[in-house]
Amino acid sequence: MKVAIYPGSFDPITYGHLDIIHRGLKVFDKIIVAVLVNSSKTPLFSIEERKKMIREATKDIQQVEVDSFNGLLIDYVHRRKANVILRGLRAISDFEYELKIASTNRILSEEVETLFLMTNHKHSFISSANVKEMAQYGADVRELVPEHVARALQKKFSE
Ligand code: ADP
Repeated sequence: MKVAIYPGSFDPITYGHLDIIHRGLKVFDKIIVAVLVNSSKTPLFSIEERKKMIREATKDIQQVEVDSFNGLLIDYVHRRKANVILRGLRAISDFEYELKIASTNRILSEEVETLFLMTNHKHSFISSANVKEMAQYGADVRELVPEHVARALQKKFSE
């Protein structure tokens, strides 16, 4: 069985992420969406909230598992007995950052490959950061994230 780990902050999950998951499943039998626990970024949603939103968004896809991990991604990939890391690429600005991470992971483990899928042009401008910024100012973000995520954002910003 071909398994890929799709790691990220997913704060929150967007249609951009979901597109990578759907397209990734054309290549892999299973995708483990893995939420990074100790990212240096300050998240809006807790790990449990993020996992719950991803589960809801992927509830109709059998081949998706939602998990979270602490520490080094490479160690997690080994633990899960996978050998592919799946990432998405949007603009050229993603490239430098992704190249740095992929190269570091390659030094840490030669058996693990990082595979990139290009964003669907419809989603190229979607990032969790701009979704949060828009939602914070009361914009309707239902074109960018699933309905339940839009509701969670609205609730978070009205607290
Ligand atoms: P991180 O904090 O690790 O960058 P993100 O949750 O922001 O995590 O993103 C996880 C992965 O999904 C990254 O590879 C990112 O480039 C990709 N991604 C995010 N949004 C999109 C999008 N709109 N189209 C394609 N890939 C995307």
